[in-house]
Amino acid sequence: MRLPIIGLDLEEVSHLICSLHGASYNSRQLLTWLYRKKVRSIDEMTDLPKTLRLKLQEQHHTEILKPSHVASDKDGTKKLLFEHNELIYETALIPEEKRFTVCLSTQTGCRFGCRFCATGGMIFRGNLDAFHIIQQVYHGFLERDVTNIVFMGMGEPLDNLESVLKSIQILTAEWGFAFPSRKITVSTVGLQPALQKLIDQTKVNIAISLHSPFHEERKYLMPVENAHPIMEVLDSIQWRNWPRTRRLTFEYILLKDINDSYAHARTLAKLALRYRARVNLIQFNPVERHPELLSPSENRIVEFESWLRAKRVSVTLRKSRGQKIHAACGMLAAKIV
Ligand code: SF4
Repeated sequence: MRLPIIGLDLEEVSHLICSLHGASYNSRQLLTWLYRKKVRSIDEMTDLPKTLRLKLQEQHHTEILKPSHVASDKDGTKKLLFEHNELIYETALIPEEKRFTVCLSTQTGCRFGCRFCATGGMIFRGNLDAFHIIQQVYHGFLERDVTNIVFMGMGEPLDNLESVLKSIQILTAEWGFAFPSRKITVSTVGLQPALQKLIDQTKVNIAISLHSPFHEERKYLMPVENAHPIMEVLDSIQWRNWPRTRRLTFEYILLKDINDSYAHARTLAKLALRYRARVNLIQFNPVERHPELLSPSENRIVEFESWLRAKRVSVTLRKSRGQKIHAACGMLAAKIV
């Protein structure tokens, strides 16, 4: 069986090239073709010696997975479903006027069971490796130039830290995609010590899935609050030392009569100001296993946003994208529509 080269880092490719008796500089040449120029045909990597190209092709490949299903929404959002070695996962491609965002999955299912999230209701089948993650980015580039990459698909990225760190290195290194760190965001429920490692070893933006500023209520929405109380996590991340280019965001899905009151807005605003975080308000997309959870009315959503603005919080109201094809926030559950 031929092994994938996509998902390998410089060190691994250097070992590979060395084992095939290539020159050390051939590693960077190969990776420049593959990651920077997005050329996957080894034959077209013309500055590699012909003998090396032949040896590479015998034992390795540069293929990406063919999605087993593609769904497209009228708003332009696409959802790709991949099935490989028992792993099932999805990628959302989200076009906007000036942006094109790839939303990556890092696991099949998730172990954290957040109430508002369809992925949390799936059976956990395992972690994706760097090949599975990077090949999702490749699919984005097949459509058009990717401007933003978010780790917000299926799974909790920090529960698969090794693959996520490796993928970020491949994406940001000059021998890799050379994609700017400030255009990459990793969303997490807030797992320590993995979060600290992500902060120390990368420069990407951090989005904390907050969803309630109150401990008991967050426990109800997100069982992870029992083991990783968010206030302790926030106090531990030394955000004051962060460079100005790194952004902290609080993700906040609005739920009718649960977290959409003025008291919530006031406490959320205090937190956001204390941590200099931007608040990303997200419209709730219904999940089948919790029909009791509802989205507030449009009026209440706008009102909640205005309460935050009045406190001078930097706030964005994220439009729901890909809802019809179950590609919107919290809806990824390998459901074919
Ligand atoms: Fe898992 Fe994230 Fe969904 Fe929570 S919100 S269940 S951590 S994928």
